[in-house]
Amino acid sequence: MKVHEYQAKEIFAKYGLPVTPGKVVKHLSEVEDALQQFPNGPWVVKAQIHAGGRGKAGGVKLAKSEGELRQKASDILGMTLVSPQTGPQGKLVKKVFITPAVDYKKELYASVVLDRQRRCPVILASAEGGTEIEELAATKPQAIQKVYVHPLEGLHAYQARQLHVSLGLPQDKINQGAALFQKLVRLFMDLDLSLLEVNPLVVLDNGDLHCLDAKVAFEDNGLARHKDYVPLRDPDEEDARELQAAEHGLSYISLDGNIGCLVNGAGLAMATADAIQHFGGSPANFLDVGGSATARAVTQAFKIILSDARVRAILVNIFGGIMKFDVIAQGIIDAAKEVGLALPLVVRLEGTNVEKGRELLSKSDLKYRFASSMDEAAKTAVEAAK
Ligand code: ADP
Ligand code: MG
Repeated sequence: MKVHEYQAKEIFAKYGLPVTPGKVVKHLSEVEDALQQFPNGPWVVKAQIHAGGRGKAGGVKLAKSEGELRQKASDILGMTLVSPQTGPQGKLVKKVFITPAVDYKKELYASVVLDRQRRCPVILASAEGGTEIEELAATKPQAIQKVYVHPLEGLHAYQARQLHVSLGLPQDKINQGAALFQKLVRLFMDLDLSLLEVNPLVVLDNGDLHCLDAKVAFEDNGLARHKDYVPLRDPDEEDARELQAAEHGLSYISLDGNIGCLVNGAGLAMATADAIQHFGGSPANFLDVGGSATARAVTQAFKIILSDARVRAILVNIFGGIMKFDVIAQGIIDAAKEVGLALPLVVRLEGTNVEKGRELLSKSDLKYRFASSMDEAAKTAVEAAK
């Protein structure tokens, strides 16, 4: 679960991390409230969307006068921002964050992520902030420092001080810098985050460190332990189909192709996506209906796939191990009836009660193509989608 910058900054503030407060504005009229709270400019107006790269895309603007502030807020609210992280369709800006502008002399980069191979958190930091970290990683990887964090002990003070020094930060601020890195790590670990990023982390004119941007993503599987934070979820920012699927206990991920996939088991779902790619097609989604799905869940899954206007063909690939195939067949028949299925449907099935399932399908008036192998199924779906 991603959250907005202003929400991340509220969490940062709780951990005693240096951030500038501001006001979230959804309607232009609320700019006046922001002005009351922060009467002295200049200000920065920042689009609040769940994607980075807002600055370059025109979603972060400096305003020097009150008039300019109203103008910039009006420009950015309602704008569709396109950055490398939004995808080509962009993201509609429904909120902006108005915050006093900060003067600084240097931009750095700091983040905490999980190193899955070493099974511990790792700090990535660079004295060369400001640029996109992906670009830096590609062109000058030696400029990114890594500090591995003990999963039980956290970041040791000596590691934090070493990092401060190796980033070339002022010697007289070493305790402040070390405390900041330790707090970032504590926050990451306490809240079971999958990502914490401060880009830029800046050095103010007096040498103090300050978090000018803040990005936080919660690990969904850890959210059950952090119920207080669940309300931070912004449904406007999430894929409607993914939310709907989650409500029905289905694992669904939107992809950008045109073949809707209904599969049981995550491994088979991945293999199905690979097979589709292999035959020159592109999956519209990953969907695992689970090992013990009911006919109802299958109907829901079908509806979710069909609500995607890009879908040109549907591939059902089911292995009936735990799941009985007649249940799936009934789900397909019900769903097709309910939604008036008009798209080409390719079905490949194997396993428990397969004969019963086939019988159900062939007795129904559903139009579908039967495939007897995974390759045939993928090939047929790719052709059908054309
Ligand atoms: P994004 O990472 O999405 O582009 P940032 O919050 O990093 O958004 O903002 C982009 C740039 O805007 C920053 O690198 C910084 O130069 C500038 N900026 C952001 N917030 C402020 C602020 N409060 N005061 C001054 N400059 C800011
Ligand atoms: Mg940033």
